[in-house]
Amino acid sequence: MVEPCQSVSAADGSGCEEARRQLMLFRQAIEQLGLPVLITNVQGRIEYANPAMERTSGYGSAELIGATPRLLSSGEMARETYQVLWQTVMGGESWQGELLNRRKNGEKYWERLLVAPLRDEAGAIAHLVSIHEDLTERKATASRLEQLASIDQLTGLPNRACLLDRLAGAIRDASIQGCSLSFAYLDLDRFRAINDTVGSEEANRLLIGVASRMQAVIRRGDILARLGGDEFALLLWNVAIDDPACEALQRLRAALAMPQVVCGRTVAMTASTGVAVFPRDGADADSLLRAAEAAALAAKRDGDDKVRLYSPELQTVHGDALDMTAGLRRAIDCDELVLHFQPQVSLLSGEIVGAEALIRWQHPERGLLAPGVFIAHAEETGLIVPMTEWVIYAACAQAAAWREAGLPPLKIAINLSARHFREGNLPDVVAATLAATGLEANRLELELTESAMMQDSAAVIRIVDRFKSLGLRLALDDFGTGYSSLAHLSRFAIDYLKVDQSFIRDVTSNPVNASIVTATIAMAHKLGKRVIAEGVETEAQMNFLRRHECDQMQGYFFSKPLPAAEFEALLREGRRLSFEAANLEHGARTLLLVDDEPGILNALKRLLRREGYRILTADSAAEGLDLLAKNQVQVIISDQRMPGMSGVEFLSRVKDLYPETVRMVLSGYSELGTLTDAINRGAIWKFLTKPWDDEALKMTIVDAFRQAGDTPAEP
Ligand code: C2E
Ligand code: MG
Ligand code: MG
Repeated sequence: MVEPCQSVSAADGSGCEEARRQLMLFRQAIEQLGLPVLITNVQGRIEYANPAMERTSGYGSAELIGATPRLLSSGEMARETYQVLWQTVMGGESWQGELLNRRKNGEKYWERLLVAPLRDEAGAIAHLVSIHEDLTERKATASRLEQLASIDQLTGLPNRACLLDRLAGAIRDASIQGCSLSFAYLDLDRFRAINDTVGSEEANRLLIGVASRMQAVIRRGDILARLGGDEFALLLWNVAIDDPACEALQRLRAALAMPQVVCGRTVAMTASTGVAVFPRDGADADSLLRAAEAAALAAKRDGDDKVRLYSPELQTVHGDALDMTAGLRRAIDCDELVLHFQPQVSLLSGEIVGAEALIRWQHPERGLLAPGVFIAHAEETGLIVPMTEWVIYAACAQAAAWREAGLPPLKIAINLSARHFREGNLPDVVAATLAATGLEANRLELELTESAMMQDSAAVIRIVDRFKSLGLRLALDDFGTGYSSLAHLSRFAIDYLKVDQSFIRDVTSNPVNASIVTATIAMAHKLGKRVIAEGVETEAQMNFLRRHECDQMQGYFFSKPLPAAEFEALLREGRRLSFEAANLEHGARTLLLVDDEPGILNALKRLLRREGYRILTADSAAEGLDLLAKNQVQVIISDQRMPGMSGVEFLSRVKDLYPETVRMVLSGYSELGTLTDAINRGAIWKFLTKPWDDEALKMTIVDAFRQAGDTPAEP
């Protein structure tokens, strides 16, 4: 180090004192500076090192002074770097740059440094000062960031970007060496359902397990990556897979299938796998990935646990699929979707009681497309969600408009896909739509399939409960085609069961299907559900269904699904099935209503007008007995409080006179006490309260006729 007073010329002692003070100040500043500082002479010998330099390098000042900075060199920097440094500073400029150095303990470290020349009074360069910054921390952070960008944080596997990068490198190497690569794209089966069932935390654990099991069975040199979600990819070096059952894929499938415990349940995973081979199926990373993806999509369509090798036709299918996706998006946004309505007809009254809304796509080039063409695709791509929201709105708005126009009240049924059903906010969407359109909740019926019910039943029960609490009706669609289970019927609060058309088609000729249909109807009725038969095409089928007490039907025999305007015309002209002749021939179902209040009798008649009963009314017990003498009556509903004779007295008499009748009292709660005795003596079958719930009352009357052993007229 340059001794302060030697290099400072002072005219007198006090000047020297001041200069000394200033130099002390500078020295202290440099000593206490957190950054390492070195001063060397022009021969390159170190003359001064501050404490920070001692700490960073690990050398004491005695070791440093007199040595050259080469002491710190890692030996890994290019010689030219030092040459440029030296030439720059000796040319009078400062130099900045990064050097890889070595500490006394051998550890290498990066530092950024600034080296500047120091001139003496004559202006000649006498010393060099360098200020260093240890970059170890900063470099470590940068490399962590780089890693973060290429590693999938959940599984620790390379991510999509990293894989594409490595795939490009592998393709380069393979082209030079003239070898093949295989690229497998794996899409886990049913992962979404598992995720919805167990929640994302458990599902993530499952993904980690799956990744580590697969990682354990791949060859060194092959790369397993997670592309995102439940999609993985495997790059196999120097293999051209031409057999879906090849050993490498079998090992992978076996690893996947190793049981894992999720939420206390053991699950074994499978994947739909697509394989593309370089150079045959794609010449660059992007096209190879797309080819494998198209093959995986085809594998998924084949069912669970399938492997597909890429073939060029798949790409066109995949291309079509992409067109379809874009087209559907446009259809939803640009009003190309339409609803048709198929009447649902009561098999008791013959009247239209509801409509099923069925979606169509008015395609600008391909014309009117049936749902079979696009629903599955909408489900695969998730477009089913906005599509169903459109259907819910359009159907509710249409039903509300018909009601406003004064047409007879109808229920409107819409179809929900299993996938959408699992999206938790569906009840909110429905509630908001009902509020926006003003449609009463009990006019809306949601058709669910058994596969929707098959999911995690706790979650399903929650959603079903929310729908029920909104006041909606629920129907189980296509019953008999899926996992038809009694458990679904009894566990879920379903109102209607729709027997699939595949059973109806030959119901009059195939004894097995006939038995299935009749047993289903009986079972549903026992559980308090109503039955709708789908796909009724002939009068014979309809008659069979009536004979076996099926409640409603839907099918070409009455009407195909119709555009809204045509359906409305049908309603306006009052089109109905006619059973009159059959009813007269075999004696109609006759219901006797007894009440002294004309208002009540009128309200009941209005409510039951379209249910297909012959309705007799009496304003007193005496008139009721009179009517009973003249008519064959199966079911009686009587008021309790009437002048002359109470309801209980009246029905007790009827019990003795006509024991086969089914008798009910319609009364206020306050009169319950007087009725217990009558109920106990069997004079009364059921006690109904005023005011009544329309739907519940209709159901009870249907049950009462069944109780009366009355089968509908046999045509
Ligand atoms: P689905 O719910 O079982 O609807 C009944 C299907 O049977 C309709 O076909 C209807 O046109 C047809 N059909 C009705 N009566 C007869 C008949 O007498 N004979 C024959 N052979 N067929 C009859 P469509 O309209 O092609 O709909 C097919 C399926 O597409 C529906 O089956 C339903 O699962 C689905 N779908 C329709 N609209 C929607 C919707 O808005 N959302 C969802 N998720 N699915 C829908
Ligand atoms: Mg349906
Ligand atoms: Mg159906």
